[in-house]
Amino acid sequence: MTNIQHSPVTVLGLGAMGRALAAALLKAGVAATVWNRSPGKEAELVAAGAVSARAAGQAVGGGELVVTVLLDHASVHETLDPIAAELRGKHWLNLTSTSPEQSRELAAWASGHGIDFLDGGIMAVPDMIGAEGSSILYSGSQAIFDAHRPTLELLGSAEYFGTDAGLAALWDFALLSTMYAMFGGFFQGAAMVGSAGVPASEFATRAAGWVAAMSQMLPAYGRVIDTGDYTSDVFQDLVFTKTALDTLRQAAFDAGITAEPLDGIAALVDRQVTDGHGASAFERSIEALRGQ
Ligand code: NDP
Repeated sequence: MTNIQHSPVTVLGLGAMGRALAAALLKAGVAATVWNRSPGKEAELVAAGAVSARAAGQAVGGGELVVTVLLDHASVHETLDPIAAELRGKHWLNLTSTSPEQSRELAAWASGHGIDFLDGGIMAVPDMIGAEGSSILYSGSQAIFDAHRPTLELLGSAEYFGTDAGLAALWDFALLSTMYAMFGGFFQGAAMVGSAGVPASEFATRAAGWVAAMSQMLPAYGRVIDTGDYTSDVFQDLVFTKTALDTLRQAAFDAGITAEPLDGIAALVDRQVTDGHGASAFERSIEALRGQ
């Protein structure tokens, strides 16, 4: 039993993620007021003790911490612009996925209306909220983060990245970029072995182990990129990598499938080789991104 006092929370947006967040708060005994644009999504939360508000402006009155979990940046403005006056003096936490620039725009809008603003990037799916493995990245008002940290920890591990409101989204999207490239690679591999009748589930077991093993190389890659020295201790140079990627793509074509997931990284490697960096390390591919 803990004696932590949680401030009342308002959750605006009861999609899959909003419902999961509100449920985790209610489970821990936090007073929650909920609102959703379309009615009908609040029933389970009300049964668990939530107060359901008919209008967003009314919902805001119930919480000291107001959380938006809406579809996108536009839906946040559509919901909050008409109730800016009601939000004045509140702590607003935006957990809607917005780009770093959109998060900064929300921070500026909030500041202009006397609202304290914290942005968050949720590194979890709804089923994970409140469970081990759930993590949420925050940036913006440190005062909100510090004041509500015990409440935020109910949703997942809480990490603060700085006063620039765009930072949490930047980290969030950088991690998601890494994730989508990995999933693209998995689809590529599954399609390749699938051409020989291997079930994707069988491939998944082996691929998971391979991805885990290869991810061990990331810290070393990071160190090389940070030094900017791609010519010392070269493990696999760009010509070697180009040959490997060309052969991989040929293998895909031979199997009757395309190789789009590989095309992106192959284009970066090709450009570096064309620019005369064939003897440099594979990590130099990042320079092709920066050059655009
Ligand atoms: P859903 O599609 O399940 O829900 C979207 C929510 O936004 C609904 O409550 C919907 O209301 C509301 N909404 C959409 N347009 C408007 C609008 N114009 N005005 C007011 N409300 C609007 O999405 P999730 O709940 O899954 O996601 C919510 C946010 O959380 C997104 O930004 C998403 O990127 C982020 N997120 C989600 C994750 C996930 O795995 N689901 C993971 C990490 C982040 P209505 O019911 O009326 O349509």
